Order: sequence, then C-alpha cells, then structure tokens
Amino acid sequence: MKLICIGRNYAAHAAELNNKVPKKPLIFMKPASALASSSQIPYPDFTNDLHYELEVLLFISKEAKNVSLEDAPNYYDHIGLGIDFTARDVQQKCKEKGHPWERAKSFDNSAIIGQRMDKEKFDLENLKFSLLLNDKEVQSGNTKDLIFDFNVLIQEVSKYFTLNVGDIIFTGTPAGVGPVKPGDRLQASLEEELYLNLTIIQ
Ligand code: MG
Repeated sequence: MKLICIGRNYAAHAAELNNKVPKKPLIFMKPASALASSSQIPYPDFTNDLHYELEVLLFISKEAKNVSLEDAPNYYDHIGLGIDFTARDVQQKCKEKGHPWERAKSFDNSAIIGQRMDKEKFDLENLKFSLLLNDKEVQSGNTKDLIFDFNVLIQEVSKYFTLNVGDIIFTGTPAGVGPVKPGDRLQASLEEELYLNLTIIQ
C-alpha cells in the first residue's frame, strides 16, 4: 500500500510557511514503512524540529485509474484523521537545494492513521477537525477551505498513479502547524469527537 500526501492545500497554511498556493495539487508519497504501529511515537534523532500536521484521510476502496470528477466519490467509502509528521528543519534544507522531501516526510513513524469512519455520516464539504497539543487547541480546520477538494484530488492523483484498495490519501493540513517534543500529547477530533490520541516519547 502507499500513502499519497497533498501539500499546501489550505491557503492559510501555505501562507504560514511562506509558500505560494499551488495551481495544481502538490503531491508526495510516504511508503508503508512510514506507518506508526503504536500511539507512542519516538522522536527521530535526525531532526530538532519535528512538526505535527493534522489532515483528513481518504481510504481508497476500489482500484482507481484516470477517474473523472463525477466518479471520484465511488472510490472511497471511509474517511479518518491522520498526522503527517514532518522534520521541518530537514525539509527546509531539501527545499533550499531543490531536493525531494522524502528525508523530511517519509521516515519511519511519520504517518499516523486514526480509525476509519463511514463517509456517509459526514458532510464532507463542511467537515470540522481540530488538534489539541497538551490540551490546548493548536489546529482547527474545515474542509470547506480546501483549495483542491477530495474529488479533484482523486481525479488528479489517479492520472499519474493507480490507486489500489488500501491506499490512503492525506488531503493536506490547515494552518497552525508547529513543533512537538518528547512528553507531548496530541489528540485529534472530527466534529467534536476524539479519534486520535498519541504521545511523543524520547
Ligand atoms: Mg501535510
């Protein structure tokens, strides 16, 4: 399976990192080995600036290639919340050199996947989600602010990559990204319900 991630998909987040809003979805990937197997996430030894990015996830339920906008909703049944952990200092160096982002984005434990939820239970175009860091809200997003909505993402991604059952799309993070340190606790909610709970360890 693969994890397809979208960058700069909320204007306020693009602005907070001094990036322009893209004209087409910005796509990168994480391998299956990036998936965290526990809710205790070890702080990587190659960064001093590990950032959380809370994102809405789409769980691909049907093989998809060259999907049209109208057909896109038929290729995922479940959504969820996840965290795209980013070594921001490493990413900054990659960006300056024009290098790929894998060292900063695709390392072990960089992908946190919360539980799957039936998409029919939610208004996907007006979905509120938020992240607490040590009980203080640090990110609050709504899918109505997406630059490229879920259907556009499936259409665009499936032009280049066959999506297989089990693949997961990280749809981008809203504003408010920031650093964590060992001992920190992160909790994510969708429509006020808690769906993700993890701790950073040494
Ligand atoms: Mg992200």
